[in-house]
Amino acid sequence: AFLLSESMRGEGGVLKNIHGKRFCHNYHKLAELAPRDVVSRAIFSEMQKTDSEFVYLDLTGLEKDFVKNRFPKIYNTCLDFGLDITKEYIPVSPAAHYYMGGVETDLWGRTSIEGLYAAGETACTGVHGANRLASNSLLEGVVFGGRSAKAAIVDSKHKTLQKNNVDYKDEIDLSDKYEVYLQEIQETMWENVGVVRNFDGLAKAVSYFNEKLEMISDKKPANQKTGEIINMFYVGKLMALAAASREGSRGAHFREDFPEKSKEDYHIIFKDGKFSPINR
Ligand SMILES: Cc1cc2nc3c(=O)[nH]c(=O)nc-3n(C[C@H](O)[C@H](O)[C@H](O)COP(=O)(O)OP(=O)(O)OC[C@H]3O[C@@H](n4cnc5c(N)ncnc54)[C@H](O)[C@@H]3O)c2cc1C
Repeated sequence: AFLLSESMRGEGGVLKNIHGKRFCHNYHKLAELAPRDVVSRAIFSEMQKTDSEFVYLDLTGLEKDFVKNRFPKIYNTCLDFGLDITKEYIPVSPAAHYYMGGVETDLWGRTSIEGLYAAGETACTGVHGANRLASNSLLEGVVFGGRSAKAAIVDSKHKTLQKNNVDYKDEIDLSDKYEVYLQEIQETMWENVGVVRNFDGLAKAVSYFNEKLEMISDKKPANQKTGEIINMFYVGKLMALAAASREGSRGAHFREDFPEKSKEDYHIIFKDGKFSPINR
């Protein structure tokens, strides 16, 4: 699978369910041009209704040459998969594509820990709304990467770096099960912390991650792969806990048990071992 550009809908591509029926207008007056989260949920709901793992994107109503020239890479990649998108429907599904939220920073990438900076997708600079707009992520990486580097230079003048030694008791090696855990994490997140969320699913995800983190306890990762998996366990748990704390829906965070948009404009932050809402 690979990512299809949203601009294909912008140029006139339409979504159809597996029975060949358009459906987006049943969910939003802007139909295929509705905001990202609305279209994702419309597709998700249609996939459930038709018991299918995909819907179709139909570009066959557009001029053949226009499609080839406007989307040359997608056209050729689909051809490699044996699909001529000027003549055939493309099977599509929503996918996790960007991590909204992250380590809270100021507008110079400074985190709450002195000397620690975050930029790019890992950071929460506050520049994105309830949906990140297409292509703003790369722009964010460039702008805030530069800004945090400048801040680090200024802040570190006349300062000496302190080395922080962590006192680990034992070592743990999960590299043999890297692929297994990766798949489990992806499935847990997709099923419970995905397009449509509810308390029970989020609690299920939290208990999966708790169980894994208990096994790790305060052991030292034996290698990079183990470190990556442990980080994913922590991030997955934090995402599920934050989503469970947020009893309302906004943009890509949709709670079917709290479908109304929460009135307050707040973020959920994790500080001193606790989640709490803050206005920003
Ligand atoms: C399929 C897809 C298509 C996308 N298309 C677009 C688009 O068209 N426009 C747009 O703006 N955005 C797009 N995005 C989002 C965008 O690509 C990402 O948000 C962006 O690349 C994030 O950049 P980054 O440098 O912050 O993080 P990353 O690119 O994830 O880089 C982080 C780096 O850190 C390394 N790393 C991780 N852990 C450690 C560690 N412990 N120690 C050392 N190194 C570590 C990783 O290996 C990686 O190289 C897309 C995303 C996806 C998945």
